[in-house]
Amino acid sequence: MDTQIAADTVNADRPDDVRDALGRPLHDLRISLLDRCNFRCPYCMPETEFHADFQFLRKNQLLSHGEILKIASVAVSLGVTKLRLTGGEPLLDKQVGGLIESLAALKGVHDLALTTNGMLLGPKATALAEAGLNRVTISLDSLDAEIFRLMSGNRGNLDQVLEGIAAAERAGLAPIKINTVVQRGVNDHTVIDLLEHFRGTGHIVRLIEYMDVGNRNGWKMDQVVPSLELLGRVQEHWPLRAIGRSYPGEVARRYEYVDGAGEIGFISSVTEPFCGACSRARLSADGVLYTCLFATSGTNLREPLRNGADDAELADILSRIWLQRADRYSELRTPGVADGHAPSKVEMYRIGG
Ligand code: SF4
Repeated sequence: MDTQIAADTVNADRPDDVRDALGRPLHDLRISLLDRCNFRCPYCMPETEFHADFQFLRKNQLLSHGEILKIASVAVSLGVTKLRLTGGEPLLDKQVGGLIESLAALKGVHDLALTTNGMLLGPKATALAEAGLNRVTISLDSLDAEIFRLMSGNRGNLDQVLEGIAAAERAGLAPIKINTVVQRGVNDHTVIDLLEHFRGTGHIVRLIEYMDVGNRNGWKMDQVVPSLELLGRVQEHWPLRAIGRSYPGEVARRYEYVDGAGEIGFISSVTEPFCGACSRARLSADGVLYTCLFATSGTNLREPLRNGADDAELADILSRIWLQRADRYSELRTPGVADGHAPSKVEMYRIGG
């Protein structure tokens, strides 16, 4: 892996890159390692649905690391330069270090990242970095212990997550991004404290508009705090300066504190959709490829893989999927118009955010 490659090179277009129906290249593959999680965040895995008897994927239904590596290497041959490991909670996979080593060895991968809730990160950070992981993104919705506990489904330990962040920093897994889903009336009143905590640390907080992912979180538009409103609230405390996106397809709108205390970002899928440059595909833990976070269907890659498909056949399948891709859900979203007939969307816990 070419670690010193600049951000704009990470997503540099190659002439043979496969492009979708809207001309977007495939640059970013998100790989879900498993569908299990040690949290029960209400907007993703509500406890009521994902209770003790819930049937998660069995081992033989999960892609093996060898199968993940094969799909990833084919995807890289089609233009992917950025791989992100997700879940469920990817650090529940005890062999993740070995997979990271193999993925890091793939020529053409310029950025290997992992998204985690941070609970298991503390004791693993150094080994992940040594295996070749570049950086981590931690999902952390509040520093208010009570709100944090509620938003993790009574499963999270805030101190353990903060220790995970510190361990990642010591291990050099930087820049560390902190993803905070902001829900009106739930945690929006604790955002300023969270920003205050990370100012001057070099960690980048990204404030994410609450989204209608999956089918189980009871999403309503009035629970969304538009980024523009949030930006106004932050500016009341600290002047900010816009600094533009670091590469095409970057989801966050980036700002820096005028006083030099670092960077924050706003991910505004609801009020400022960014489908136009979306270069992301998502692979579920059981081998289904989705071309949008809000997809209603995907393509099973596990079957052809287990039926002996070689790299060329897999490349053909992936190219055909991507060439036909025309997803732009966020641009077409009709907030508030509850359509009881809408086909069900893939659940976020199956593909990661
Ligand atoms: S809604 Fe779908 S197409 Fe649009 S940015 Fe998100 S993942 Fe990409």
